[in-house]
Amino acid sequence: MTLNQHLTSSTIWRDYDLSEITERFRVKSPFGSKAGELELEARRFLWLSAKTKKELVPSELVDEYWHAMILNTATYRRYCEQSFGFFIEHSSGIPRSTDEAFAAYREAYRETLEFYELEFHNLPPAEIWPHPDRRLEERLARYKKPYRLHLETTNHCNLRCEHCYSESSNTEAHHDLHLIAAVLDEAKRLGVSKVTLTGGEVLSRPDWKEVFTKALDTCDNVYFITNGLLLTRKKLEWLTRQRAVRSLKKMETNIFQAYPYRYWSCY
Ligand code: SF4
Repeated sequence: MTLNQHLTSSTIWRDYDLSEITERFRVKSPFGSKAGELELEARRFLWLSAKTKKELVPSELVDEYWHAMILNTATYRRYCEQSFGFFIEHSSGIPRSTDEAFAAYREAYRETLEFYELEFHNLPPAEIWPHPDRRLEERLARYKKPYRLHLETTNHCNLRCEHCYSESSNTEAHHDLHLIAAVLDEAKRLGVSKVTLTGGEVLSRPDWKEVFTKALDTCDNVYFITNGLLLTRKKLEWLTRQRAVRSLKKMETNIFQAYPYRYWSCY
């Protein structure tokens, strides 16, 4: 059976279980509300890519989902191999900043839309696949507003590492809770969708629960960076109940099983 016959007759590319990737995307991505539609469009894009030797260009949103697939590398590899018989590599997708490169990129995207219409007998949905004239503009628009906030909640830390970029130590003061709340409110107003609480050591604050509560009230996606030494089971349970970080269980495993004796760095 030729590749084209396989692609036409098989439905694995459409039916393969990608729910793990999609549910993670739904929680983590600022475009999570479109997770189901983007899964389908990414499947279609990859199917088209398998069918042609030309390099196709995904829309911004499809590319977002494709990134999520690639982060889940083992599932993505199995999906490609079972659906298409080979691995489809992700290219950078960013044209070099010359007029010719941008023109070629726009043309490749236009050809992708035409190929989509030809193969699926439908126009690609415009809310996911914008007109070629808007493809790059939408990419640039994403960088015109803040997207993610790294918030230093304190200069205090239970450690005093030589390499510490913030020169934190246990003699430093904590930042004012009202100021942290004001920054979070401003971030929300500007449309920030991800907040990372960092320090120093955020868990060394006596009011760390209030900091997390305020962050969670402000933003759907809250992460934190810790050296782990103050991260007790009780705190983990509280954080899990507050849905602070979905991967806390994994993190607990990393700290308490993989590194049972010491954990030096923040990262
Ligand atoms: S654990 Fe992190 S914040 Fe604390 S002193 Fe070390 S590098 Fe700095």
